[in-house]
Amino acid sequence: MKYVLSALGLCLVGCSSASVEPAPSTVPFNIENYTAEYHDQDRALDNLKTLSSDEFEGRKTGTEGNRRAMAWIEARLRESGVSPAKKDGYQAPFTAPNFDAPENVIEGTNLVAAIRGTTTPRTALLISAHYDHLGAADGIYNGADDNASGVAALLETIAWFQDNPPQNSIIFAFFDAEEQGIVGSSSMVDTLSTTEKENIAINLNLDMVARADKGELYAVGGYHFPELIPVIEDVASRAPLKLLRGHETPDLGIDDWSFASDHAPFLRSGIRILYLGVEDHADYHRPSDEFDKVNPAAFARSIDTVIMTAEALDDWVAQEQSDADQ
Ligand SMILES: [Zn+2]
Repeated sequence: MKYVLSALGLCLVGCSSASVEPAPSTVPFNIENYTAEYHDQDRALDNLKTLSSDEFEGRKTGTEGNRRAMAWIEARLRESGVSPAKKDGYQAPFTAPNFDAPENVIEGTNLVAAIRGTTTPRTALLISAHYDHLGAADGIYNGADDNASGVAALLETIAWFQDNPPQNSIIFAFFDAEEQGIVGSSSMVDTLSTTEKENIAINLNLDMVARADKGELYAVGGYHFPELIPVIEDVASRAPLKLLRGHETPDLGIDDWSFASDHAPFLRSGIRILYLGVEDHADYHRPSDEFDKVNPAAFARSIDTVIMTAEALDDWVAQEQSDADQ
């Protein structure tokens, strides 16, 4: 496999509701004043601030600002010491047709890192966040929530699993060209073999995880994969914010987020997905989606919830593997 197999030396071959409903939460909380338990909240906030600064000119795929953002994330990966998923490094370039401008193609670069699992390394979780955004037009679209927040959360998730090795392997994908039509993730899924797809137990996708202003984060996936509901409910019962199920049924029209971000190509190809994101807000896809709109305590709660979810999924997948082996 391009992503896990080569760098980690893994052999993947031959291995094996309708409306918004709060999952039960027993943790009362006030959104303010939170000390993170699963990550370094100063570092996360710093990373969010940097990646959503004017320096990256809105991170639009194909622009200099986007390439600088990619290089900045790559430097953070190198600094963290996490392994690249491919032998030749973190970068996974791709080219795709540009349907808006057929004379041009979309050229972008995903960044992919991986940590080898301790007990079931042939099985992998793929945790993702896109780093591109809309560029500059009537102002710079800095995309603090969309999706510098997911990138910062993913970097913290990597740090957590470096200190707390996962049972399954974890692939960490920083996707490009999501805003061009979910192109980077689609290109990755297109390059996976059948066996590789079978060995990805789930895609956990993060897109817009900062603006949990009402203390709420949505989990999309239980409608498609009911076996995930107990995992979501377990995390919801312990999480430092309200983890809600919703935005996942076809009757909701555009409020059905099942295909709204990089989890879509995974879902289409039959891979389980769990997407985490906040409710749309007034600054969505506007130049006003800025760092100073982010409530640091809400963001820290959200990242802790992301990492708790990743851990719960790792436990659940490992259990599933061990049950299958018996
Ligand atoms: Zn997004």
